[in-house]
Parts: sequence; structure tokens; C-alpha cells
Amino acid sequence: MKAAVLSAPGDISKRPLRISDVAQPEVRPGQVLLRVRACGVCRTDLHIVEGELPVRVKELIPGHQIVGDVVAGATAELPAGTRVGVAWIGGTDGTCWYCRHNFENLCNSPTFTGCSVNGGYAEYGLARADFVFPLPAALDDLHAAPLLCAGIIGFRALRVAGVQQGEKVGLFGFGASAHLAIAVLKAWDCKVYVSTRGESHRRLAASLGARWVGSENDKPPVALDRAITFAPSGDVVITALASLRKGGVVAINAIHLDRIPQFAYDSLLWGERQLRSVTNMTRDDARDFLRVADEIGLRPQVTVFSLEQANEALLAVKNDAIDGAAVIAM
Ligand SMILES: [Zn+2]
Ligand SMILES: [Zn+2]
Repeated sequence: MKAAVLSAPGDISKRPLRISDVAQPEVRPGQVLLRVRACGVCRTDLHIVEGELPVRVKELIPGHQIVGDVVAGATAELPAGTRVGVAWIGGTDGTCWYCRHNFENLCNSPTFTGCSVNGGYAEYGLARADFVFPLPAALDDLHAAPLLCAGIIGFRALRVAGVQQGEKVGLFGFGASAHLAIAVLKAWDCKVYVSTRGESHRRLAASLGARWVGSENDKPPVALDRAITFAPSGDVVITALASLRKGGVVAINAIHLDRIPQFAYDSLLWGERQLRSVTNMTRDDARDFLRVADEIGLRPQVTVFSLEQANEALLAVKNDAIDGAAVIAM
């Protein structure tokens, strides 16, 4: 099969992914083999390919927003031909303290799709049968793919931030994840304030119903109940904290941040403001979000690439050159 393979991490401008022919994986008990239809491109893939996240797999195939059909390993629940999604969390041990207490996102021995096992930048991929999600029929492949990380983890971020119906919510950064989160927030009658770099991202935010749009480090004109940062920048975390009312929450939706600058406690955190990170996802997050997405008719804005263009897709993500989400069509 054809796949985009990472032999050695490096700057994306040097095209570290090689498009090559590799052996089709063989299905083991408890797994399904998928014929990949589409795979979303996430900023986390960029962190993996550029070496900011540790990779222990030689010749890794990245990609953790996979839409594919079950072609082997079918079960009664997952008959051959079932169209499913695979997300970032590819498996957990099911036995550690976190798994037993409903925090499988924090599992001590997790498997991450396209990071600790091969992912979906390929014609075929394996997944654990208990970690795939049947997809709503109304969602086509290209529009389903970005929901599987950008969507689910953005949805988890709304939960971690504790968003309630009708609240004032700030989104800092407006890439793939935020442009899906805003649709959920609008469905919940929230007032949404967006700070982001890039004129086209600001235009997209306004067209999707943001009440106010500013540039990267602009503070919204009102005190926010909740804020979610999507930008891979610690400075933005401080701007978000400074935008909160007392008792408000900032949720950081970033798997990698260079650092968070030193900040004043009295004016920024005092007053029971909270700063939380959003880490991975649970299967419940995935199922709940896919149901909500189906109910509200969520359709991401997508830019489509071929498998041969995997490096270009990641470069575009790095340069903030994509409005909405990048997707590889197989
Ligand atoms: Zn566990
Ligand atoms: Zn992701």
C-alpha cells in the first residue's frame, strides 16, 4: 500500500514525510483493518513530524483523524463495510487508576494513533475495534475527518472550561478546532469572542457568528465567563487569563506550548480564576460530540490534499494558511 512515512523528524519545509510503498498491515485479534477514505491533518501531526513530540516508532505513519471502512477483523457490532472514525486515543490499558475513574484521557499507558502506533496517512490502517466510532450517515468522509480530533478535542475543551448555555466565551486562535467549537457554542446560545492572527481567520470567525473579532493578543471588550486557547503560544494564555471575570476558566487546548510567561498573581489568577489544560479525549467525548455534530448539522470548512501532498498540507497548517481544516483524501 501507499503511505506517508516519517523516518526522521525534521523541519516540515524539508519534506520529512516520504511517500512510499509499504506492506499492508495484518489484522490481529481485537483489531479491525480499515480501508482509509480520508484522514484529517492536525497541528499535532506537525509537532510529531517536526520532532516536538517524542516518536518511538521507526518509520511512523502519522494521522489520527481517520475515516475508513472495516475490511478485516469484522465483528457482529462492526460488520465488514462499516464506515468508522479513528481518533487520537487509539487505546488505553483499562486498568490504571485513571481508566477506572472515568479519566481514560489521562491513562498511564495509552496508545496514540499516528504517534505510538501507525495512523491514517496511508491506504490502509489498523485500529482497536473498541476504539472506533461508527459515523453518522449524513456526514461525508471529507467533512467527517476533521471532527475526529479538531472537533472532539475542541468539544472536550468546552467541557473542561465548564461552558454553560448562554455564556460569554472567548476563543483565542481560530484554526480547525476553534472553527468547529464556535458552531457548538452558537447552538448553545453562547456569545463568542474571537482573537486570532490572520485576516482570513478573522473573516471566517465573523462569518461563523462571532460577536466580536480581534487580532492575536487583543482582549475582548467584555469580561469572559470562559476562554479557550488554541494558539500554540504561551503569551496568548496570559491574554486569555486577563480577559476573564472572577471565577472564570481558561482551558488550554494545546498539546505543546513553548512556555507560559511569568504573570502577576493578584490581577490575573486571584479571584478564583482557573487555568486548566485539555489533555487527550475519552471515547464518551467522541460519541457525545459526534451526536451533537449530527444534531446541529456541523460541516467543517475543508481544504483537500492528496496523500502525495502530505508535506504540503502540514506546511500549510504551520503557516496558518488553511481556513478551517486540512484533509487528505485517499
Ligand atoms: Zn489506563
Ligand atoms: Zn489532533
